Amino acid sequence: MTPSAEAIDALLPQTQCTRCGYSGCTPYAQALAAGETELNRCPPGGERTITALAKLLSRNALPLDPQCGIETAPMVALIDASRCIGCARCLPPCPVDAIVGASRQMHTVLTDLCTGCELCIAPCPVDCITLAPRAAIAARSPSPTPQENRQRYDAHNERIARRERERRELLAERKRAASATKTGAS
Ligand code: SF4
Ligand code: SF4
Ligand code: SF4
Repeated sequence: MTPSAEAIDALLPQTQCTRCGYSGCTPYAQALAAGETELNRCPPGGERTITALAKLLSRNALPLDPQCGIETAPMVALIDASRCIGCARCLPPCPVDAIVGASRQMHTVLTDLCTGCELCIAPCPVDCITLAPRAAIAARSPSPTPQENRQRYDAHNERIARRERERRELLAERKRAASATKTGAS
């Protein structure tokens, strides 16, 4: 019997980096469960994840697909404060909310939370975000676990969904108020 997508997802690093070609770890797990993709597409998980997936799926292990990237030591993002213009464009793409800052203020990365997923780098208009080995920057701070990454990603999605709900409710309330004013005036 093919293992469930949930069982496969539990073996993935949960950085949500999209390097596998899917929009996150769960979609990749679902594609694996459906037999639609190979098990060697997760650079953050590297050889260890490939071995675990091969065992679970009763498939042969394969070398990491170079088209997805290479396996590296854990990395963290760093923001060059002297160049940051406080545009806040790096905030929404971070799946684990590891960047703090507000509009027109310098931003900084919480290295304890950062997974090194790189998703904040491309949106920065002044190229002031770089990656560095975690060991060199935060020697005493271990990489967050997959469970921690997942919890932060779920919290991130919940916060976005709540904001969207609140925005829709506010719009509906304004529409109702405008309509009531119009009816009262006629
Ligand atoms: S951590 Fe692996 S499975 Fe998850 S999105 Fe990145 S490449 Fe895909
Ligand atoms: S700070 Fe950047 S590299 Fe670190 S987790 Fe957030 S998006 Fe990924
Ligand atoms: S995207 Fe770059 S310039 Fe804009 S706030 Fe983030 S680090 Fe600063």
